[in-house]
Amino acid sequence: MAAIRGKNTKPELIVRKWLWSHGYRYRLNVKSVPGKPDIVMRRFRTAIFVNGCFWHGHRVAMPQIDNGEMIIYNSECCKIPKTNREFWVKKITRNQERDQQNYRILQENGWYCIVVWECQLKPKLLEHTMQQVELQLNQNFLSIYQRKPILFSESENEYLMVAEEE
Ligand SMILES: [Zn+2]
Repeated sequence: MAAIRGKNTKPELIVRKWLWSHGYRYRLNVKSVPGKPDIVMRRFRTAIFVNGCFWHGHRVAMPQIDNGEMIIYNSECCKIPKTNREFWVKKITRNQERDQQNYRILQENGWYCIVVWECQLKPKLLEHTMQQVELQLNQNFLSIYQRKPILFSESENEYLMVAEEE
């Protein structure tokens, strides 16, 4: 198990390296942005989180209670340890809740969030995953840019108003 939320963890480095080599520039662990995202790309108003599958509970379903017994499901990439299962489930669930809260706060502040999972960065999947990230970045950039025509209609109105006053 890797260290929790450590700086410069390997999956994050893989993402950074790909972005950098494709000409993208970013900031790291910006404290002024809610949730302290791993990678911040202001130009795209996008925060990228590189999540470890275990700590962030990738694809883990909520535990079910059956006849008073807690049934915990493992996922392909997040296997809950056999000992202290309830402890781990609580911990991972808390992390998931915190993640969701961070994403929500960011979105409320006009930021886009991209979550990249550790398991999506395996050598065979890396290129596809990062192409998806790139696509999302471009879509985000376009939606920021597409707000601009509103400015034109505003300035047209101003012009009309000036004309009316004469
Ligand atoms: Zn995973």
